[in-house]
Amino acid sequence: MLVSKLFLPTQREVPAEAEIPSHQLMLRAGLMRKVASGIYAFLPLGYRAFRKVERIVREEMDRAGAQELIMPAVLPAETYMESGRWSVFGPEMFRLKDRGGREFCLGPTHEEPFTETVRNDVRSYRGLPLTLYQIQHKYRDEKRPRFGLMRAREFVMKDAYSFDRDEAGLDASYLAMHRAYRRIFDRCGLDYIVVDADSGAMGGSGSQEFMVKSDVGEAVVAYCDACGYAANDEKAVAVPAPEPKTGAPKPLGKVATPAVRTIEELMAFFGTSPKRFAKTLLYRTDDGRIVAAMVRGDRELNETKFHNLVGAVEIEMASPEEVQRVTGAPVGFAGPVGLKEPVAVYVDREVAEMENFYVGANAADLHLENCNVGRDFAPAAVADLRNAEAGDACPTCGKPLAQCRGIEVGHIFKLGTKYSKALRCTFLDEQGAENPMIMGCYGIGLGRTLAAVIEQRHDANGIVWPMSVAPYHVAVVPVMATDPVQMGLAKDLHDRLEAAGVEVLLDDRDERPGVKFKDADLMGFPIRITVGRKAAEGFVEYKERAAEKPVDLSPDDAFAKAVAAAKGAL
Ligand code: ATP
Ligand code: MG
Repeated sequence: MLVSKLFLPTQREVPAEAEIPSHQLMLRAGLMRKVASGIYAFLPLGYRAFRKVERIVREEMDRAGAQELIMPAVLPAETYMESGRWSVFGPEMFRLKDRGGREFCLGPTHEEPFTETVRNDVRSYRGLPLTLYQIQHKYRDEKRPRFGLMRAREFVMKDAYSFDRDEAGLDASYLAMHRAYRRIFDRCGLDYIVVDADSGAMGGSGSQEFMVKSDVGEAVVAYCDACGYAANDEKAVAVPAPEPKTGAPKPLGKVATPAVRTIEELMAFFGTSPKRFAKTLLYRTDDGRIVAAMVRGDRELNETKFHNLVGAVEIEMASPEEVQRVTGAPVGFAGPVGLKEPVAVYVDREVAEMENFYVGANAADLHLENCNVGRDFAPAAVADLRNAEAGDACPTCGKPLAQCRGIEVGHIFKLGTKYSKALRCTFLDEQGAENPMIMGCYGIGLGRTLAAVIEQRHDANGIVWPMSVAPYHVAVVPVMATDPVQMGLAKDLHDRLEAAGVEVLLDDRDERPGVKFKDADLMGFPIRITVGRKAAEGFVEYKERAAEKPVDLSPDDAFAKAVAAAKGAL
């Protein structure tokens, strides 16, 4: 392919909203263009790279025994109403009506239509197990679309759904997907970890996310180098690190704390460490209850853990009016003792081990000292409610945990019977008994994966593609396009590489060599073969994008080396 013929609008300036390198580079290198917030068009170079990711995903899904089909993106509301998600999705769902007033959505994820299809067409255990997948656009009206393809509103997902007759079947289907995901992300050249993830308040027996390590990742991951434990911040088990006890509980007492509300203010007022305080945080559930969570003064409440424990569809922080109502005081003085209404108080495991600590007194400008769980109030439950932190003991081996940020590129999930029960997706077993199918679901964001590759593989000059995903494997660059010797040799190399199946560009533009090199580096082709003055002596320069310096080779050797390098990706 000739560069002069390529639709390749590189960009010098990128808008300020492109905050992270992958987003900036995808615009600068002419891989994509923004159409609307969170909605992008792929240009030819970007689409080539995207299709490489798609091919890898498809090959590995097929290898794992999953069968590809394609669902519509426009989906009738009814099945989402049956599962309850028509309301759960809220404003994230793109909704539309046809001319007759019938309601539809643009599919945000396809558990419902897949379950419905299998419900209608698989009746017997003989049709199981079954794993189906599609590679298709998804629509989510994200609150904060950003980072280009990382958090888009229209994006391509590979979503797979497994249907089994029992838990053992689900385990096998899940493992097959797990293995396929590892192969996919390995082939994409990503450095990632697999972490335990929350499976939500609404059931599901296990879930893992594939996290690409990156400082721009929106997720926080806790991991242990010693034993391999890894979990995302929603799920990571926080092992209590209690202070030593004296074993001598003191009498509960009131302390006037005028206008002292926050932990910082309390620390200054009492002249002590935040470990001596417990925060009482009030939340409202969607069914109208007010519930409280207590964590130590220096810890953060983990809303996901709390949400799961409380068992509501949704929870939200109580409003200042609600706080006033149940505590009889303005925000800042809530505590577990003497609440004005019956409130279930959930206590973090670490708080349960504290002794003689400070809490709000449920009265303006007042705190209690020497509070003790059990003696002064009865908790609704004691559980792990806080965020794990770097340095905490690993929950499996006790060594200190480390933390990093990650980009979630894939998510695998044991759904169990959540959708099969809601949508009556059942099968008849050998005895003729009707059972719900046991399901799993498995998603990969293809655009996010592509962006994550660039995020991990770039330098000051541009993208550094792995061969597997590169839009072209090799760029052949004649230094002087007007020099017939150079151009002749370059063209010959290009044609031979192309004939060998290597994806190759010939930069035939009559541009300064510096411009051509800069472009090749920006676009990140894994190999650049430069044909310059040494062409007359029978040498070309062979440079790997990631290497410091080029090496001089004969055209034949350069050809052979490039073919060998590209071979694994053909
Ligand atoms: P996130 O927590 O990042 O919002 P999610 O948990 O909503 O993601 P899933 O529903 O598990 O995502 O979707 C499966 C995969 O789809 C994700 O692992 C990710 O790769 C991709 N994905 C999800 N939302 C987006 C988005 N807005 N833009 C691009 N890819 C996305
Ligand atoms: Mg997820």
